[in-house]
Amino acid sequence: MIAKCANPACAVQFQYLREGKLFRMEFDPERNPPGPQLAGTPKPVRKVEHFWLCGACSTTLTLVMNGDKVETALLEPVAFKTAAAS
Ligand SMILES: [Zn+2]
Repeated sequence: MIAKCANPACAVQFQYLREGKLFRMEFDPERNPPGPQLAGTPKPVRKVEHFWLCGACSTTLTLVMNGDKVETALLEPVAFKTAAAS
């Protein structure tokens, strides 16, 4: 269950789905196997977790997979594009 905004620096509590953005992140155990697998072992089931960014955070942040962790990442800063080009 989602308790709060996925941004660790933000304390906004999850209340309304219509605010912010909901992310569905899939953890693929086959991409990061925990160790050698026995032949005939059933395929690991993908673990799916949901994360939520509040309205304010979802305007500047998105969520990315980093290995088996979910981290916040800055959205493309459109306003800075022209400044960086000079
Ligand atoms: Zn937030």
